[in-house]
Amino acid sequence: MSVERTSDSQASEAEIAARAKALESLLVEKGLVSTDAIDRVISAYESDIGPMLGAQVVARAWSDPEFKKLLLEDANAACEQLGIGGMQGEHMVVVENSAQVHNVVVCTLCSCYPWPVLGLPPNWYKYPQYRSRTVMEPREVLKEEFGLGIDESADVRVWDSSAEIRYFVLPERPEGTEGMSEEELASLVTRDSMIGVGEPRDPEETR
Ligand code: FE
Repeated sequence: MSVERTSDSQASEAEIAARAKALESLLVEKGLVSTDAIDRVISAYESDIGPMLGAQVVARAWSDPEFKKLLLEDANAACEQLGIGGMQGEHMVVVENSAQVHNVVVCTLCSCYPWPVLGLPPNWYKYPQYRSRTVMEPREVLKEEFGLGIDESADVRVWDSSAEIRYFVLPERPEGTEGMSEEELASLVTRDSMIGVGEPRDPEETR
């Protein structure tokens, strides 16, 4: 079986789905996995593991300075305190947004992504346009593709996730959230804000 590198050409969704199906059939046929096991993993990552877990981590960091310190030093240890961890997240690193620095995460090679806190990556995360262009002109990508304007005075930093290190963003706590509970704060944290292509929700809109 020959393996072609397709990272520079964009395979269609149907083509990717067909390839995934073919691989699954082969693995099942060879007795390496059962379809039940695959279904269980997919269902877990679709409904139980997703950005809501990352949102809990961010909300805790916004509320608890000690936790935030640990999160920035050792994200896995911090996440573990909330019972969060697992495959595709063996070494996670958190980068903090501020008025001076805006961080955005990409995987230039494929689609490495911290599954335990964000679930499965969105489709656009895998597109060559996002992967290559974000590195070259992050401000333009954020503005044109995500409608996110970054202040000219702020630094934009791009982090390239890999199988070894997977990054996620600690967004800035929005103004007007004083006195909110962790649960309320978590409801403001979006997946995109943890990739760095969006901002948390405005508390005014959720009230
Ligand atoms: Fe990757």
